[in-house]
Amino acid sequence: MSQTSTETFVIDCHRCKAKVAAIETGRTNRGGWEDGAGEPWGERILLGTCPRCNSVLVGQATQIGFAGHDSDTDDWSDVTRVFPKPPKVFSSYRIPKTVTDSLNEADRSLQANANIAACVMFGRALEALCRDALFEEEVDSTAKKPRPIMLSAGIKMLKEKKIIDERLYDWSQQLAAFRNLAAHPEDISISRNDAEDLQIFVYAIVEYVYDLADRYEEFKERAEKRAKRRKP
Ligand SMILES: [Zn+2]
Repeated sequence: MSQTSTETFVIDCHRCKAKVAAIETGRTNRGGWEDGAGEPWGERILLGTCPRCNSVLVGQATQIGFAGHDSDTDDWSDVTRVFPKPPKVFSSYRIPKTVTDSLNEADRSLQANANIAACVMFGRALEALCRDALFEEEVDSTAKKPRPIMLSAGIKMLKEKKIIDERLYDWSQQLAAFRNLAAHPEDISISRNDAEDLQIFVYAIVEYVYDLADRYEEFKERAEKRAKRRKP
């Protein structure tokens, strides 16, 4: 795992909303061999500044090729920005992997200015949320093999079951509309501003359905315990 020294690295600048060749001012490489599996791993953190707006940018890349092991050269993934505006982290352990995987993929698409791809992934995340949150009703409602819930029907059911409120329902409908637009092979364009707003909306919905619901349950439990203790 040799160290290469370059003066710039390509990263998405949050302020310029574009890929820029950041001027590298520092880097850290970590790597080694995974215990047991016998596979190498490598990670690189890059520090730099945007040549256009002078913002400080920190990126992360993972090693995807290892010289002398599975490749002639050390190869690295594209750099993902980790500061500022790092990828969203949720606290609930109930969030399905399909939801988080789709959101991560959407974020990578946004950083690459692939806004249509990002919208497809927002829709995928929301659809996975619907299927997860409505799973019990879905199984109860039919004796036959249940059909998977589709996005627009799922959103309506979320509102009917009071899993989301009116405002989140409106945002969900916007997400569904953009997803439908993005999923069909027509000549369209979606602006980065719109895609970034939709990202905020889908994060809010996931946070509301999982993180805040968990948090409130824990809060209620503590309150109940306190109330019990006060009773003689
Ligand atoms: Zn910039």
